[in-house]
Amino acid sequence: MSNRPKLSIIVPLHNEVESLPLLLPALHNALAKWGCEWEVICVDDGSRDDTWAQVVALATTDSRICGLRFTRNFGKEAAILAGLEAARGDWIVVMDGDGQHPPALLPKMLACAEDESVAIVAAKKRTRDADTWFARVLSRGFNRIMLAATGLDLQNACDYRLLKRPVVDALLRMPERIRFFRAMTVWTGFKQVDIEFDVLPRLAGQTAWSTRGLLSLAINGITGFSAQPLTLVFRLGFFGLAVSVALTAQAIWSWETGNAISGWTSLTIVMVFFGSANLLALGVLGAYIAQLFNEIKARPPYLVGSRVRV
Ligand code: UDP
Ligand code: MG
Repeated sequence: MSNRPKLSIIVPLHNEVESLPLLLPALHNALAKWGCEWEVICVDDGSRDDTWAQVVALATTDSRICGLRFTRNFGKEAAILAGLEAARGDWIVVMDGDGQHPPALLPKMLACAEDESVAIVAAKKRTRDADTWFARVLSRGFNRIMLAATGLDLQNACDYRLLKRPVVDALLRMPERIRFFRAMTVWTGFKQVDIEFDVLPRLAGQTAWSTRGLLSLAINGITGFSAQPLTLVFRLGFFGLAVSVALTAQAIWSWETGNAISGWTSLTIVMVFFGSANLLALGVLGAYIAQLFNEIKARPPYLVGSRVRV
């Protein structure tokens, strides 16, 4: 037990061969004055470049570095989960491997964590200048819906956070396959303090997120945390029913008075409106059925192909 490090740093990596060698010296720098033991868990999420070779090479020169390699790309959430499962430290930090989450912020996070009552230290984006205009709009809209539907405040939140052991144990007790790390940490209810930081440009390479990927992340985030959209569909159905009763009465009245043909406009509107409302409702149901389908299959969230020191 004595060689258990105090701090585990989890770094999910997907095609970060150029960033990784720059990130580790920055970590060394940031932690140079910190007296405790630490380890870095590099999780290679099925990179197609030489990221894994890089991890192995770095691990042979530094015993604090360990690594896991997935058999293929399982996504960042799976990489974070694998890191949390492998972490041995009392304090655990999750940090992007592209340098956008500055290691220089670590001393401040560690200082905040010294407070016994604090369980989560979350880095909060001061600006979103590094993001595209579209990503900013999408994330703002998503965070608003999340707050309204679940009560979880994720405005400007990111995955750069320090968690103490009880929080990680709580996350590992949550059995869902479709995971949303930052929302799940807030959901635990442990005391959190926020530290603001400026997102840096990537050290190298490109973001792996596509618009489609972000959209499905948003849908999974909402359907995984809240049943409100289903309730909304239900209410919409009731509203539609009320409207259709009125329209039926009007149609009968037109027929009685011999003006039936003049109802064409309203009929078209009704058809278009209810047609799209139906599709929308089906879409919402579909999103939940997809969530159920994926959870019920209960497949492992990731598969490990190779390891160094874990
Ligand atoms: N990442 C990953 N699996 C993926 C996509 C990304 O492990 O399928 C890692 C990536 O290497 C980086 C972090 O997750 O360390 C954030 O990814 P990225 O920089 O592409 O996202 P953004 O900063 O645009 O949110
Ligand atoms: Mg990034």
